[in-house]
Amino acid sequence: MSKETSYDSYDEYKLKKLISELEAKEGRGTELISLYIPPQRAISDVVRDLREEASTASNIKSKSTRKNVMDAIESILQKLKLFKEPPPNGLVIFCGAIPHGAPGNEKMEIHVLEPPEPINIYLYRCDSKFVVEPLKELLREKEVYGIIVMDRSEATFALLSGRSINILDTITSGIPGKHHAGGQSARRFQRIIEQVAHEFYVRIGEYASKYFLNKEIKGIIIGGPGPNKNEFYEGNYLHYELQKKVLGLVDVGYTGEEGVRELINRATDLLQKSKLAHEKQIFNKLMETMVKDPQKVAIGKKEVLEKLDRAEILILSEEANDLRITYECPNCHERVVSDSENDSKTVACPKCGTPMLIEQKESLVDYLAETLKKRGKVVEFMSTKTEEGEQLKNSFGGYAAILSD
Ligand SMILES: [Zn+2]
Repeated sequence: MSKETSYDSYDEYKLKKLISELEAKEGRGTELISLYIPPQRAISDVVRDLREEASTASNIKSKSTRKNVMDAIESILQKLKLFKEPPPNGLVIFCGAIPHGAPGNEKMEIHVLEPPEPINIYLYRCDSKFVVEPLKELLREKEVYGIIVMDRSEATFALLSGRSINILDTITSGIPGKHHAGGQSARRFQRIIEQVAHEFYVRIGEYASKYFLNKEIKGIIIGGPGPNKNEFYEGNYLHYELQKKVLGLVDVGYTGEEGVRELINRATDLLQKSKLAHEKQIFNKLMETMVKDPQKVAIGKKEVLEKLDRAEILILSEEANDLRITYECPNCHERVVSDSENDSKTVACPKCGTPMLIEQKESLVDYLAETLKKRGKVVEFMSTKTEEGEQLKNSFGGYAAILSD
């Protein structure tokens, strides 16, 4: 809880990965236990409930399922002894016998984790799969922003949640856009146009209520070319609850989807806390350093690995999935570490030429992140949901670092 930044992309990445691993596991019977303990729940209550579950489980007909369930409950009770009370965000435990090949080869696994935000449910479930949905729900980005990009002829509504943009709707007024309106005739109808614009602003307000009111929206940003957005904002066309949430007005050159994307690019100040902005900032810092001081950046897997000792900020793509494989020679015990996308090629021992065996296989990204974390350095993960994230993945192979002098 002493963490200075509330957002740690590496923690989030690790949790996402664990969730997808847990999701893939399946018990031989109904014997995988998921336990969610909210922060307010007394551990003694949980222990009492688990003992009750254990006595119910003693009636299970299948001998192996009965044994596995009771063993799992016992393992959980052992773990709970380490806690006087639940941690500030509560506690989530997954425990069960996971099959490895033939029946009888199950291995008891237990995962104890403290969620990134307080969990509000108390749940005990014994099933053939682990229950991970409540954790996923927590990860679903909490910060949602409402976006309106508008002028007199068109308005587009969108939601920005975490890093993804969801275009909701576009409405039009019938007033031609700037590039269509022209000359004398348009001027003659000025007053009518003012009236139609007013009615359009009212409609924009109604649509905004439909999409943004009573939703968990952190803020609203209004963008558009020219002064129409100011007219709209200053005219109080938005429901007062939404009006309060307006973070700012942003000038953009376009309306429609293109305008929404442009707005998000320009509104980084307003969205500083959102993850999208966070990714953009990291990437911009990398690019700035590259321009000012090319010696201080490493780009691509090879260079990052070579200069890892000097890395201050490691920037990794969530989509980078190289492996780090340690080979050992069965003859002379020489060891070789290789970083490659797969383990299909045979590696000959550099000393005696014997084909080497794989001793250890891990994710390269995990290895790098752990190494840097241990040194107290910064590790940033980028999605591929932003242009910057795409660029990291496609142009830099998913690996970059900002180095010390
Ligand atoms: Zn050898």
